[in-house]
Amino acid sequence: MDTSSIAVVGGGASGALTAIHVLRLARARRTRVAVTLIDQHGRHALGQAYATTDPYHLLNTRADRMSAVEGAPGHFVSWARAAGLDASEAGFLPRAVYGRYLREVLAASAEPPARALHLITGTAAGLEGDRAVRLADGRRVAADAVVLALGNRAPAPLPGVPAHARHVADPWAAGALAGVGDGASVLVLGTGLTMVDVALTVTRAHPGTVVYALSRRGLLPRAHPPVPATPVPVVLPDGPLRVADLLRAVRRAVRANAGDWHGVMEGLRPRTQELWTRLGPGERRIFLDRVARYWEVHRHRIPPASAAALAELRDSGRLRLLRGGLAGAVPAGTGLRVRAELDGTVRELDVGWLVNATGPRPDVTSDPFLAGLVSTGAARRDALGLGLDAGPDGAVRDAKGRPGERVFAVGPLLRGSLYETTAVPEIRAQAAALAPRLLEAARVPRARLTA
Ligand SMILES: Cc1cc2nc3c(=O)[nH]c(=O)nc-3n(C[C@H](O)[C@H](O)[C@H](O)COP(=O)(O)OP(=O)(O)OC[C@H]3O[C@@H](n4cnc5c(N)ncnc54)[C@H](O)[C@@H]3O)c2cc1C
Repeated sequence: MDTSSIAVVGGGASGALTAIHVLRLARARRTRVAVTLIDQHGRHALGQAYATTDPYHLLNTRADRMSAVEGAPGHFVSWARAAGLDASEAGFLPRAVYGRYLREVLAASAEPPARALHLITGTAAGLEGDRAVRLADGRRVAADAVVLALGNRAPAPLPGVPAHARHVADPWAAGALAGVGDGASVLVLGTGLTMVDVALTVTRAHPGTVVYALSRRGLLPRAHPPVPATPVPVVLPDGPLRVADLLRAVRRAVRANAGDWHGVMEGLRPRTQELWTRLGPGERRIFLDRVARYWEVHRHRIPPASAAALAELRDSGRLRLLRGGLAGAVPAGTGLRVRAELDGTVRELDVGWLVNATGPRPDVTSDPFLAGLVSTGAARRDALGLGLDAGPDGAVRDAKGRPGERVFAVGPLLRGSLYETTAVPEIRAQAAALAPRLLEAARVPRARLTA
């Protein structure tokens, strides 16, 4: 019997969930498969989000939504309890625990030699047609189907800020925050989830650390309620949707729910992808320009424990929220002198560290591998420039808009077509839907596919 070969580029949660679903499906079908998971930093099953070792970095999703197996919602909680952890369905476990879980489920999904899993540490540099992945060190991974699971790119460089030992350009890089909690003040650019991570880590590393968090609107992520909210239905018109209709319906639902927006968010969450497709290109742009930032802080909430820790830091003056923009920075002493425009006035602030937490850079061509795929016409950016253009099943579209039959994308790369595609529940569903497609692509003779 032939063995299908599937190469997954990117070994984070998206790549791991894809591998898990392919291996489990192959086991159920008693077919042979070899999955190769390629990760440039060797952070297989951990990636950006779950490589942290800080126990105060908690999942921002309740445990019962974080199962690695579609259709088995209790899987993560059962695993955690079996591992001796105090886990409840509605609780928020450390992200490091989740990384351990994903690694174990991934390893347990393989059954060599019939259903083999190969973990490769290396950087994908290009595709050889749709037959193989070429690595930067010259190795080649032959594959019947390729999955692009590259996740988010590092933040865009900050204009006017030089490279400096105390300028952390990518807070998600391995060990990036290692020296930062030395007691010197820290300016974090951005006030989202990454800022929360940085503030918790550096103030715990040294209690004297003062963190300044700077962003245009100074919006902080909201907190989850202690008890999960019951989903509230949001009544929307059928057919194409305008942002104005959406906002009106949401406000109406919040009023009807006595001002409690959490239930409304729960009601909207499973429908986000459908609503995004109904918005149409022009309306999507309006959403991104005017609504997305407010949506993000309500949608991506932090656990109550993290919110309490943040409130304590603010009350004690160790976390100071600044509203404005960064104008530049120069080296000063051992740290940096930052110029920031605050309330219309440019001010200078001497800080020990500057951390870029402005969020992932949307442009896929900032990544050399993806830039190569776009320049050779094997892929193209989506219309909004948020990721790669792909069909509803993740099939990557080439320069002419034709969906490929052997190259697929999962996770954040699909943001342009799905919008809600960065959290585990959505990625898990994509992986489960893609698994049969991958086994099928691998089994159909190539001549038939390319004819
Ligand atoms: C700090 C943080 C916390 C989060 N917390 C949660 C949470 O609690 N719950 C939730 O549901 N979601 C959470 N998320 C959302 C998160 O995006 C997903 O859960 C998930 O981690 C996305 O994984 P990914 O594999 O798509 O991306 P990544 O984790 O970024 O993994 C992509 C991998 O691809 C590798 N790679 C990139 N280019 C190449 C190349 N050319 N060759 C080889 N390898 C390459 C990278 O090194 C990386 O390891 C969080 C995200 C972040 C950043």
